[in-house]
Amino acid sequence: MPLPDYKNLLLPTLKKHFGYDQFRAQQQDIIEYVLEGNDALVIMPTGGGKSMCFQVPALLFEGLTVVVSPLIALMKDQVDGLKANGIHANFYNSSQSSEEQQAILEQVIKAELKLLYVAPESLAGLSNILNERYVSCIAIDEAHCISSWGHDFRPSYQQLGFLKKSLPNIPIIALTATADKATRQDILDQLKIPNAQQFISSFDRQNISLEVRSGTEKVKQIISYVKKHPNESGIIYCLSRKNTEDLAKKLNSNGVPATAYHAGLNFNERNRVQEDFVYDNTQVVCATVAFGMGIDKSNVRWVIHHNMPKNIEGYYQEIGRGGRDGLQAHALLFHSYADVIQLRRFASGASNEEVQIAKLERMKQFSEATTCRRKILLSYFGELLEENCGNCDVCKNPPQIFDGTVIAQKILSAVYRLREKEAIGTILDVLRGSQNANVLEKGYDKLKTFGIGKDVAWKDWQHFIIQLMNQGYCEIAFHKNNALQLTEFSNNVLFKGAKVSLTRPVHIAEPKVKERVK
Ligand code: ADP
Ligand code: ZN
Repeated sequence: MPLPDYKNLLLPTLKKHFGYDQFRAQQQDIIEYVLEGNDALVIMPTGGGKSMCFQVPALLFEGLTVVVSPLIALMKDQVDGLKANGIHANFYNSSQSSEEQQAILEQVIKAELKLLYVAPESLAGLSNILNERYVSCIAIDEAHCISSWGHDFRPSYQQLGFLKKSLPNIPIIALTATADKATRQDILDQLKIPNAQQFISSFDRQNISLEVRSGTEKVKQIISYVKKHPNESGIIYCLSRKNTEDLAKKLNSNGVPATAYHAGLNFNERNRVQEDFVYDNTQVVCATVAFGMGIDKSNVRWVIHHNMPKNIEGYYQEIGRGGRDGLQAHALLFHSYADVIQLRRFASGASNEEVQIAKLERMKQFSEATTCRRKILLSYFGELLEENCGNCDVCKNPPQIFDGTVIAQKILSAVYRLREKEAIGTILDVLRGSQNANVLEKGYDKLKTFGIGKDVAWKDWQHFIIQLMNQGYCEIAFHKNNALQLTEFSNNVLFKGAKVSLTRPVHIAEPKVKERVK
């Protein structure tokens, strides 16, 4: 139960403990919703102010708020920060002795704590106090870790479903900065909070201009790029440790000051690279994706992807390190089929191989897109951008566009007739009227849409479907055999006469890369 007068206490609490005068967009709605006892899923970009969404309620609930977080290394700092603001907070994890842990349990029983941070694997130790007598609210930070469809799955998160079962009347607020639509649904399923309202902040970072280039002679391109941007800080993301070192060497020998950063460096070396970068002593860092987490540098002017990222979540997080000060920043991605093939190999054998491959495929489609890239990024995160952004390479240099409404209607109605159960291959078979065994077995040759697209080549259909996905009119359900499904926007095309613009296909030959067979 919250304090009776909590609605009048929201702003005073924000002011008193955090020193702020106003809530940011959505924060107040989320806070009130949770205080009323409802479950919520909060998707907000890093730095958006997620913590406030459970810290303010924690102060206004009578009992304890338990915060589940995988970041043991950061817990002490977080708790110290809260204590410095006069908030009774503590943490509970495996870094503590059993005496320390016992003392914390006693604090809870004496109702001396408002917030308790706990690692998921340490929750078992709290069994005596994890009940509705002591606990008023549960926050799950980095909630995407619960889903194997997310990009940072952690098995220790999998057991969190028991929380709703054992504390059915306690609100759960799950928070994350990165989750595509499938992952969001999975978070709700796993946490057993099917009715949780989703609060999704805009992911749009308009000040970051987007560009994708072909990867031929990319080192040469990078050298000339950096030389054209003297005194601007930038990060170059590479696939491997060796890549980072090789590239840094090549840049140095061409007169571009750059340092390599990867997880193989020792603690002091990593710290030194980070500090030199933050204090503008190093202009360029060639890094693996390990670089950037926890770094607070507002004037990163460009982010280059020397190699293709594994998925759009990762790409978006990495380019998001540019332009934190709100000034123009540039994200440049080098597209390469060789990278795609290598990333496919990395994914093979993983427990969630299918998901990883499908996400990689989406990344590849983004790189090959001929429509506004920001639309694609935002639609991936479930946002519909009405207008083209004007700040990506496609917008600035647009390909030929035609009215593709009829084509879109054909595709979407095929998806609909196939009851959103089939992957792209079968949909194309049906459109093109292929009489193969699969089609005949399932009786698809009797559908109205069968063969309505004989006149368009297979490859062109593919190109159109990718564009429709990129524009948010259909999507791949990674977890359902990659079936193509409709979205909330498909109806506009199918039934409401919405016009769809498509671009004419330009066929770029894929270079043949020999697969090495073991
Ligand atoms: P996230 O967890 O989403 O990455 P944080 O919760 O760490 O973000 O918040 C990012 C920063 O924004 C913090 O410095 C926080 O104090 C600040 N902040 C959060 N809410 C507000 C607000 N209403 N007004 C001003 N600053 C805020
Ligand atoms: Zn654009």
